[in-house]
Amino acid sequence: NVLNGARFTLAANEITQLPFDSGAEVAFAGRSNAGKSSALNALTGHNALARTSKTPGRTQLMVVFDLPPLKRDGDEPLVARLVDLPGYGYAKVPESMREHWRREIDAYLKMRRSLRGIVLIVDIRHELKDFDRTMIDFCAATQLPCHVLMTKADKLSRGQASSALEGLRKQFRENKVPGTVQMFSSLTKTGVEEARARVLELLHT
Ligand code: GDP
Repeated sequence: NVLNGARFTLAANEITQLPFDSGAEVAFAGRSNAGKSSALNALTGHNALARTSKTPGRTQLMVVFDLPPLKRDGDEPLVARLVDLPGYGYAKVPESMREHWRREIDAYLKMRRSLRGIVLIVDIRHELKDFDRTMIDFCAATQLPCHVLMTKADKLSRGQASSALEGLRKQFRENKVPGTVQMFSSLTKTGVEEARARVLELLHT
């Protein structure tokens, strides 16, 4: 598991502080409390790679994790990173901070040449929120691959979880979103292998 080699590199308050824009990276996005930190921890096999949010409205940063260089047949190893984007959604986050991150994330998505795809974390129990829609619409508009983890699947029955999954897949097909959707649970580890494979596939594109 290559993702197990993820190491904290830096935390940035603006995109200008990110590592040099070469190689390949996959960004993780999600509203606060969706389960993004838990998902990152499950994917990398670390207990505390990403901080789980016990403190709503804490200082938010873009957090970069370097991966070991990825081997490629007959080619130089590929420098690869995971980027944890700030999630917002808590009422307690001041409007000025929301506005800051709206701008930074927008600029990041538009300008980051090494960005290969987005992993969007949503709570399987809830409808998509504005933040999720914005990310998905952006991916559709720019043809950037989006992989959705419908997490906390352990909180629903099998039938409920399947219908939520099919519902979102249908929306993706109808809106021609270049992406994939899967069930996930950081608690039971459902979908962890599938998600790891997808992240690696995105990094290699
Ligand atoms: P973040 O704000 O998106 O990084 O969310 P966290 O990873 O901190 O998770 C928010 C809350 O949801 C925490 O109380 C987690 O323990 C819980 N949580 C996250 N993922 C799961 C999951 O797959 N199943 C269950 N049952 N709870 C989860």
